[in-house]
Amino acid sequence: MQTLSGDHIAAWLERAADAMEREKVYLTELDAAIGDSDHGVNMARGFTAVRARLDTLDRGDIGALLKAVGTILLSTVGGASGPLYGTLFRDAGQKAAGAAALDLAALTCCLEAGLDGVRRRGKASPGEKTMVDALVPAIEALRAAQGAPGPDGAEGGGDGGGGAPIAEALARAAEAAKAGAEATVPLIARKGRASYLGERSAGHQDPGATSSWLLLRCLAATAGA
Ligand code: ADP
Ligand code: MG
Repeated sequence: MQTLSGDHIAAWLERAADAMEREKVYLTELDAAIGDSDHGVNMARGFTAVRARLDTLDRGDIGALLKAVGTILLSTVGGASGPLYGTLFRDAGQKAAGAAALDLAALTCCLEAGLDGVRRRGKASPGEKTMVDALVPAIEALRAAQGAPGPDGAEGGGDGGGGAPIAEALARAAEAAKAGAEATVPLIARKGRASYLGERSAGHQDPGATSSWLLLRCLAATAGA
């Protein structure tokens, strides 16, 4: 597969809704350690709302689809992460305006625009124990995959897609996000509610970095299905 369609994006969102429901307790436990025990509930509420609206959204324009998802998340997730994930999807959608399909290069630009939005809105840098710590390495992995040789050793994988096939690139991005989320454990939180704990925030994995990893894992699974 060299491109993702609007149907793929919708399948990703369905998968994400399942994952957030399934991991609700886990994410909430992570947030109980360094926050206020609501991250799992927040994410499950938001993605359940997205799933409920999915059939009414236009899949022919991925930009419009992602923007609509961002608006739903903005109004349903709540907490610090609601506006941040809302911005991620809205800014990603802005970048994908009018696109019926995304190849790896376009998908990377789109997710990078989402990350830029998160960073602009939340003002977090890498190493401050936030979702940025999972998203930055994921985007770096996508960029690196574009330069990687395809399965036949030729740049572009033989059919002009540019670099590794999209599923493989997303699998690497999800692995990078997982490593990034795990690497938040020893960090001291500098942004968000967890920062109120100061040094006591060290020793726990960041909930938002973990949910970002889950979202990327769902996207990789959708592309690989
Ligand atoms: P709240 O902290 O308001 O209860 P959530 O529990 O839903 O909101 O989300 C907490 C997560 O939000 C954190 O684990 C962190 O990853 C993310 N977060 C908080 N503040 C920021 C920020 N300024 N920039 C990026 N991510 C942030
Ligand atoms: Mg919280």
